[in-house]
Order: sequence, then C-alpha cells, then structure tokens
Amino acid sequence: MKVAVVGAGAAGCLVTRRLRAAGVEVELIEAGPSSISGGSASLDWLDVQAEPDRRWPDLRVTKADGLEPEPYLTGRGLGGGSSINGMVATLGPLDAYAEWPAVNADIEAAIERVRLVAPTTTVDPGPFGASVLGSPNSTGFSLAPAPLLAAHGQRSLSLIDGIEPTLRATASRLIVDGQRAVGVECDVKGSTQLVEADHTILCGGAIQTPALLLRSGVDNGEVGRGLADHPSRVITIELAADRQLPLGTIAPPITTIGRRDGIELLFMDHTGSDREGRQTAACLVVLMRPESTGSVSLGRSGEDEDEDETDATQRSGELDVHFRLLGDGDDQARLDGATGEAATWLSEIDGVDSASIQPGFGPVSHAAASCRLGTCLDPSGAVAGWEGISVMDSAALPGLPEAHPMLPTLVVTEVISAEWLRRHRVGNHRRS
Ligand SMILES: Cc1cc2nc3c(=O)[nH]c(=O)nc-3n(C[C@H](O)[C@H](O)[C@H](O)COP(=O)(O)OP(=O)(O)OC[C@H]3O[C@@H](n4cnc5c(N)ncnc54)[C@H](O)[C@@H]3O)c2cc1C
Repeated sequence: MKVAVVGAGAAGCLVTRRLRAAGVEVELIEAGPSSISGGSASLDWLDVQAEPDRRWPDLRVTKADGLEPEPYLTGRGLGGGSSINGMVATLGPLDAYAEWPAVNADIEAAIERVRLVAPTTTVDPGPFGASVLGSPNSTGFSLAPAPLLAAHGQRSLSLIDGIEPTLRATASRLIVDGQRAVGVECDVKGSTQLVEADHTILCGGAIQTPALLLRSGVDNGEVGRGLADHPSRVITIELAADRQLPLGTIAPPITTIGRRDGIELLFMDHTGSDREGRQTAACLVVLMRPESTGSVSLGRSGEDEDEDETDATQRSGELDVHFRLLGDGDDQARLDGATGEAATWLSEIDGVDSASIQPGFGPVSHAAASCRLGTCLDPSGAVAGWEGISVMDSAALPGLPEAHPMLPTLVVTEVISAEWLRRHRVGNHRRS
C-alpha cells in the first residue's frame, strides 16, 4: 500500500514514523525546507523564525468580528511549528483525554508513547522568571518552571530524527474520483506533479488541512468548523538594570509558567530592547478554556455572493480564516480581569520597574480543532462520507486543549494512526 502524507510538521513526522515502522510505503510531501540547519535548533525562537522559508507565506486571519485580516504565524518545513515554536510542552488535565469521542485506543498508553518521542525538560529561568518565582504571591497562580521540548542546550529534534520528506512540493489539491481520493496534485516550483496514492493522510496543520480539503471539494459540513486558538493579552515589563538578560544570551522565550483556573501566565524573559537599549520582558496572559470558536472556509467569488449555492466545488474565493476570538460567553471579561490582576501583582515584584498592559488581544499560534475527531472524522481519521482521505494533525483535535497544543496533537495523531493501521490490517495491527 502506498500512502501520501501531506506535511512534515510535528504530526506528519509522527505518522510517517509509525507507518514506515509498520512497513507502509510513505511519500512525505512537504512545502518547506527538508533539513534543519543553522539557527533551527536554537533555543531562541527569534533566531529560528528569522530563517528563510520557515514561516507559511502570506497567511492572514481575522482574529475577531469587525477586524481586518492580519498576518498569522505558522511553521513550514521539516518539523513545521515544532521547529519554530516556544517549545512549551504541556498535556493539560489528563481526564480530558478520557472524554475524547470516538477513541478506541488505550489513551494512557498513547500518552506514554508520545512522552517517549517528545521528552521534556526544564531550564534555569532567566532573571525575570527568577524574580517571579522568588516573589511573594497572593494571586493564587501556581508558579513553576515550564516543561520544554529541549535537550543539551538546544531545541529537541527527537521528533524529526530520521525523517526525511521525499518530495519538496506544495500540495495544491487532492485528486478525487467520485467520493474517493486517489492521489495529490502538487506544485513543484511552478510545475504540476501528480502523486498517486492508495490513501492520503493530511498533516498540514489546523489551517492548511481544511483549506486543502475545501479547495478539493471535499466537505461534509464539518470541515473547517470549530477552529480555535487561545486568546491572550500582553503585559510589557521593564526590568531593573540588574535583572536584565546579558546581551547575546541564547535562551528559550518562556521558562516559567503560572496557572490558575483556566488562565496561564507565560513569563518571557526577553522580547527585545527599548530605545535606550534596555532589555524588555513580557507576561502573556492566556485564556486556556475559551468558549469562542471560528472557522476555516473558502469565501465566495464576488458574483456568487448572493446565490444560495452550498456546493464547495462551486466556491472559488480566497481562504477565509476567522477565529472569532472573545466572541462568546464571558471570554472577554475573564481575559481582561486576569490581565488586570496579573499586571497589578507584577508591578509590585522586586526587580520590575513597570508592568504595562498593551491594548488589544491576539491568538497565540495554537490553531487547532478545525476537522474534529468524532464529528468531521471517524476514529481512523477518515473524513466522514469520503474514502481514501484521513486527517492526522492539530486539525483533528476534538476541541482546543487546555494545554499548549503540540503534545495533545501528538496524542491525537498517535491514537488515530494506531486505529488506521488496525483498520488497514498493516504491521502488527492486523486483525486476527
Ligand atoms: C510561533 C509559534 C509558537 C508556538 N508555541 C508553542 C509552544 O510553545 N508549545 C506548543 O505546544 N505549541 C506551540 N505552538 C503550536 C504548535 O507548534 C502546533 O500546535 C503544532 O506544530 C501543530 O502540529 P501540526 O503537525 O498539526 O502542524 P504543523 O506543525 O504546522 O505542520 C504542518 C506542516 O505541513 C506543511 N504543509 C501545510 N500545507 C501543506 C501543503 N499544502 N503542501 C505541503 N506541505 C504543507 C507545513 O509546511 C508544515 O511543515 C506554536 C506555534 C507557533 C507557530
């Protein structure tokens, strides 16, 4: 059996690893660079994000109703987001996984297998993190060093170890015969290349995966629905001269976390310098259990706008990514309340000269849950109503996790890929 896997990000690398170990031939298609070089292993995300081709180009999203689209950062190339992200590796409350719909697997065993491919560590906090950890705290936030996907002073590469994409190309659409996918049409430096496959597995991430499905006319009414991200606000910190990170220090962006009832505080030791050359730090206040969700869809071309046409194949407009952050429930009030409280506390900490709340809010590049397991997807990741197409990535999460999404993405990928192997009777997953 030949399988085309689209996307060599965190999930695509795990799927490829599992399928190849079971003897499946995998064509791994990745749009970005297929090796890690130079700053890509650096702990400092500003180094890695500055690498050419490591960001998905021209991606714009609407973060909330009434706002204009603005740039949104996602990863591109081997490792995808895991090669440029903040490395914070959390699973969130473990009982949430037991409530995932349509899961036939032993979820605890899946979590243990993920821990093996993605081992975490903590590092010494920077001066701001150390001040926070050492300060009196009456806010109820529990403070701790952040678990990171790092090792030996570098970003951990164990996820991508031994994985090489076989085709550097952008998948432009699925080749569909009736209700069945039979391969992928790819753009290789402006030329079209067709990749035939018995099965296609999409691992393009929570925005590109539904985009590819919709552009191919593959829709079951749930594709793109439920997209979510964690809304956040920024508190800028001016540190006293003796608390600044020495210039040239290479350090992870986040080393310390605070948690309290669905809110996280991410303490960032260095975010740049002010006009006088003094290092600035920040605290990101993040709503980890937002109610609001959005969507990925294809807008209509101008002429079609008034028509009552719902067939996805008739839509020819631009990609429309809308997060609808803070649109529902008391999301806005909870985020604003926690931000005000955190700023007051931080301004009293020894070594902090000032703590100023920045206007506005934003997503934190934690896009997830746009092709949800249990509604859009069956337990093997198959797009309900279609054959030969599965989704195994952050899009497949059955909801936005109360965690940084990389590890939960690996858990859902582990669970779905095991079920896929079982159903397709491959390797030691064959039915007796
Ligand atoms: C700046 C930033 C900071 C983050 N910080 C954290 C953090 O600290 N902790 C955490 O847990 N999570 C963090 N995340 C989120 C985390 O990285 C993602 O949740 C995770 O990478 C999702 O994995 P994925 O495999 O679903 O998608 P991705 O890792 O995004 O991988 C998708 C891959 O598919 C490729 N691709 C997409 N479409 C196509 C196509 N049509 N053809 C060919 N290739 C394609 C892309 O190039 C990419 O390599 C962060 C993300 C960003 C961007």
